[in-house]
Amino acid sequence: MSGRRFVSLCLSALVLLVLTNAASAGEVDELTGLEKTNIRIMEVATACWFLAVGCSIGSFLNVVAYRMPLGMRLGSPKSHCPHCKTPLSRRENLPVLGWLLLRGRCRHCSAPISPRYPLVEALVGGFFVTLLFVELLSGGKNLPVRTPNSFAGVVWVIWYTKWDLLGLYFFHCCLLSLLTAVGLIAVDRQRVPWSLVSWGVAIGVVFPTVWATLHPVPAVVPRPEWLAAYEWRYEWTDTVFSVGWKQSIGVSLAGLLDSVAGLAGGLLCGAAVSVAERDARRRHSVCVAFAIVGTYLGWQAAVSVATATALVSLPFKGLSRFNRRLDVPTPVVVAAATLVQLLTWRWLSESSGWPSHQGLPFVAWPDDPTAQLAALLATIAVLGLVARRVSSPAASQEDGASPSAESSNEPDDANPASAAAAEPHGPDATGEPTG
Ligand SMILES: [Zn+2]
Repeated sequence: MSGRRFVSLCLSALVLLVLTNAASAGEVDELTGLEKTNIRIMEVATACWFLAVGCSIGSFLNVVAYRMPLGMRLGSPKSHCPHCKTPLSRRENLPVLGWLLLRGRCRHCSAPISPRYPLVEALVGGFFVTLLFVELLSGGKNLPVRTPNSFAGVVWVIWYTKWDLLGLYFFHCCLLSLLTAVGLIAVDRQRVPWSLVSWGVAIGVVFPTVWATLHPVPAVVPRPEWLAAYEWRYEWTDTVFSVGWKQSIGVSLAGLLDSVAGLAGGLLCGAAVSVAERDARRRHSVCVAFAIVGTYLGWQAAVSVATATALVSLPFKGLSRFNRRLDVPTPVVVAAATLVQLLTWRWLSESSGWPSHQGLPFVAWPDDPTAQLAALLATIAVLGLVARRVSSPAASQEDGASPSAESSNEPDDANPASAAAAEPHGPDATGEPTG
C-alpha cells in the first residue's frame, strides 16, 4: 500500500465519520423509511471500507510472509513482475482487483502470477468484514463476560463511536492478520522470523496494558478486587463529534497480567500440540501461533483453540499418509480454529461441553483446576503423539527442500533466485498497513 493510497484511505474514513456524525444529528429512535435506507447504505459503505482495509493488509501480509523469512526488506524493491522485473502500476497493485485486471498474467511478458496472492487478500478482507458484523456491529454479542451493548448496529457503534468495542475489533483483526502471516510462512515451510514473533507479542502485551478492556476474559475470573484496583485510568469526553466519544488511558496491571498469563498458557498449549510434529521448524511455528493466540485472547481461549486444533489435526495427519495434500500445516488449523473461537466465543464459553473460563469439562478428575489443566494438556500431547505416529513420514522430509510441481509458487530457501521469481506483486516502498 503506497503512502498516498493510505492517506486517501484515511481521508475517506474521516469523511465517512464526519458525514455519519452530521447525519446522526437527528433522532434515531423513530426512523422513517428513508432513514432506514440511509442506514443500510451507510452499513454497506462501512463494510466496503473495512473490506478495502482488510484486502490491503492481506496484500501486505503476502509480502511479510514471503520477504521476512528470507531476511529481505519489506519496503523495497517495489512490487514488480517476478519475470521481467517491470514495476507494477498503481492500478495493477490494487489488492485482488489488480490481479483480476491482469487476468493473472504479467502485462509485459505474460508470466503467470500466482492466484495465492489475490486469495490471501480476499481472505483477510473477508476476516475483517465477518468480524465487523459478528463482533463490532452486533455490539459485541460474540464476546464472553463483557455485557453486549444494548444499542448495536452501524448507528450506535460507528456513528456514536464505541471505542472499547472498536479497540477489541482492531485487536482481533491484528491477531487474525498475524496468524495469517504465520500460516503462510508455515505453508512455505519456512521458519517464522523472530522479528515477526516479537512484534506480534509486543503489540499483544502493550495494548492491553494501556487498555485492559482488550481482554474480555481476565486471567482469573472474576478478576480479584485488589488487582482490578490497579486499573487506573484517565477519562475524557468529547462532545464535538458525538456523545459516545469517550476514551480512557492509563497503565493497567490487570491487563498486563492477562497478557503475560496468556503468553505463558499459549506456550504451554503450543508445546502440547507441537508433539504431533516430526520437524523442529514445524514445532516452532506451532508454538509461535499459540503464543500469539494466548497473548491476544487469554490462556483460556488458547486452551480451547488447542483442544480444537488437536481434535481437527489428528484425522488430517492420519489421512496425510494416503494423500500428502491433506498434511495441512498446523498453524493454518490454529488460525481457522481461532477464527471460529472469536466468532462463537460467548456460545463456546456458555456451553458446558467445551473448555473455557467456566471450567474444563473434559476432565472430571482431579478436582483441582490446575491439575485439570495439566490433565487436559497431557491428553492433547497424547493425541499429538498418536497423530505423529499415524502421519506421513515423507511430509517432514520435504521441509526446506525444493518445492514440488504442485506447489511451484512456494519460495525456495535453497535458491533465492527462484524464490524471487515466485513473488509476483506486493506493496511498494511505503507499504505500512496501519489502516
Ligand atoms: Zn513480466
